[in-house]
Amino acid sequence: MKILVINAGSSSLKCTLFQMPERRALADGVVEKIGEGDAFLSFSAGATEVRQSCEAADHPAALQALVGCLLDEQSGVLTDLNEIAAVGHRVVHGGETSHSALIDEGTLQVIRENSVLAPLHNPPNLAGVEAALHMMPGRPQVAVFDTAFHTSMPPRAYLYAIPYSLYTERHVRAYGFHGTSHRYVTERAADILRTPVDRVNLITLHLGNGCSATAVKNGRSVDTSMGMTPLEGLVMGTRSGDVDPGLFYFLAEWLDMSPADVYDLLNRESGLTGLSGVSNDVREILAAESAGDRRAKIALDLFAYRLRKYIGAYFAVLGRVDGLVFTAGIGENCADLRRRACEGLEGLGVVLDEAKNAAAVGREAVISSDDSATAVLVVPTNEALQIAVETYDVAGGTEPQ
Ligand code: AMP
Repeated sequence: MKILVINAGSSSLKCTLFQMPERRALADGVVEKIGEGDAFLSFSAGATEVRQSCEAADHPAALQALVGCLLDEQSGVLTDLNEIAAVGHRVVHGGETSHSALIDEGTLQVIRENSVLAPLHNPPNLAGVEAALHMMPGRPQVAVFDTAFHTSMPPRAYLYAIPYSLYTERHVRAYGFHGTSHRYVTERAADILRTPVDRVNLITLHLGNGCSATAVKNGRSVDTSMGMTPLEGLVMGTRSGDVDPGLFYFLAEWLDMSPADVYDLLNRESGLTGLSGVSNDVREILAAESAGDRRAKIALDLFAYRLRKYIGAYFAVLGRVDGLVFTAGIGENCADLRRRACEGLEGLGVVLDEAKNAAAVGREAVISSDDSATAVLVVPTNEALQIAVETYDVAGGTEPQ
């Protein structure tokens, strides 16, 4: 059966078509700069490659353009839209919903209610859902929540030490994000380590433009670094990660900033960008460091140091760690930061093999030495495939109405 996976962001809409249960990607496309007047479409399916400007004033128009490519005779992917048996959607915030859910009025309400906690993500996710519902009415559609993997965290991990009524009345708690990616790499790593997933203990490190670490016990998330919002935790491309919450007060007072301004500064002007003054892209910061830029070096050292602190903390959370798993843009490609993050962890049983580490770029690999008590792995993430798998599980038996 063919499953279309949709990931709708504020100005982009990505689609991947999968043949399930074979897990085979048949086509992949994205429309960027939706609503900006110069929208651009990229599409590939087998030998067919399309790159062209397109009319996409909104998400429905972007989806229409991508579906047009799937139906195009030249691509030969689909002859009829009815061949798509189900649609899976990435939805960032599902609150305390613990599973992927068939989209009905209740699920739409969950997405709407949680928009207040993910104002940049849930509204465009919802726009993608609505566009697909309109185009394929009656077709089973499934919401796959980024937060769902972390709903197994115990209260001691997800509560903040603030008045409890803020949790019961205002839902203030850590939710965690990147769950679809952490779940995918957990299952792959268990497979590579030949350990049943419900017995594997891992520290999974999703290091992209956004970064998060998760402590996985017996295949389930028991703690994660992102919190009520994706601002908490590790240093990221433009986000500060952990800061003293008192900073909010003093920045607002001293710089005469509104709460929204401070929030913006910590989300968009901080992290590697704010520290290095170079960029949010690790490749550019590494180049600047090599050229002798002191701030670039400080930014990368701090990034690796904070990462190491989380790894150490999660060793304490888990007791036994079978594997450290690096994924996403930095984790999959940057041997230098992987090495720096693992430096000094020999006492915890983590010993990298320098040659294996250097050779592992963008592919699955074990990069620890043979005598390392904890394996270190690189596992490229595949959130679209994970969404297809979960959509298949939820909608597999559902006939189109
Ligand atoms: P993602 O959000 O997973 O797409 O990751 C994007 C980030 O990965 C970029 O901003 C870069 O910082 C980083 N990245 C991608 N490729 C490399 C590479 N070859 N070396 C170092 N960092 C990389």
